[in-house]
Amino acid sequence: MTTELDEIIPVAETWSAGQVLDWALARYGEHVAIATGFGIEGMVLLDMAAKIKPGLKVFTGDTELLFPETYELMDRVEQKYNIRIERLYSDLTPEEQELKLGPSLWARDPDLCCSIRKVEPLRRKLASLRAWVTAIRRTQTPERAGVRKVDWDVKFSVVKISPLADWSRQMIWSYALSHGVPYNPLHDRNYPTIGCTHCTRAVKSGESPRAGRWPGFGKNECGLHSSAPPVPPAIRVSASGSED
Ligand code: SF4
Repeated sequence: MTTELDEIIPVAETWSAGQVLDWALARYGEHVAIATGFGIEGMVLLDMAAKIKPGLKVFTGDTELLFPETYELMDRVEQKYNIRIERLYSDLTPEEQELKLGPSLWARDPDLCCSIRKVEPLRRKLASLRAWVTAIRRTQTPERAGVRKVDWDVKFSVVKISPLADWSRQMIWSYALSHGVPYNPLHDRNYPTIGCTHCTRAVKSGESPRAGRWPGFGKNECGLHSSAPPVPPAIRVSASGSED
C-alpha cells in the first residue's frame, strides 16, 4: 500500500517552486515552517513563501557566531515581511562550549561544533513540526545532488520540502534582483555562501562557490542536510544546564 507521500513525491518533481510551496503550506498549515540561514537561496524562498502565506513561520539556527551583516539582515527581514524569526540556540553558549570542550572547537572538530550549535537545536525544533521547508539546491554540493522537492527526512523523521531543488544559482539571483529581495551585503564581497564567521571566507577568482566554507577541512555540510553523526550523549546538556 502506498502512502500519500509516496504518491506526492514523484508528482512534486513536475511542480514549480511556487506550486510546491502552495501545496506544502496548504497541506501542513500550522505544522510546517520555513528554515533559512539567510543566504541568497533562503531569501528567495522567504520572499516566495511570504507572498503565498503572510505571517508564515520562519526559523533559523543562530549559532551566536554569525556575521554582523547576517544579524542586520534578520532585522530587515522581520520588518519587510512583518514576521518574527524564531532563533534556535544551542544549549551551550559559545563561552560554555569553550569551558567544556576547549577553545576554538570549530578549528579542531567542526563536525562536533556544527552538531552542538546547529544540528541538535534543529532536531529539537523539528520534533514539533510535521514538515520543514528548506532552500537547498541540487547543484550546491555533491551531497545535495539527489534532493527531491518533497521527501521524507529520515534523519529528523519529518517531511522535508525543497521547492528550489532544481533551480540554478543564476535563477536564484535573477529572481532576487527582479523582485527586490533583500540580501546579505557579503554576497557582493565574494562570499557566495555565508555561515559562521570562523568558518567562512571570501572566495578567490576561479574557486567554487563552496570553497569559502570550512577552508582547510574536507567538509561541505554542517549536518542539517546530511547524515553527520549526532552529538555524543556525554556532552549533551539539558535546558537547565545539567548533563543528560
Ligand atoms: S560553521 Fe563553524 S563555528 Fe559554526 S557551528 Fe559549524 S563549526 Fe561551529
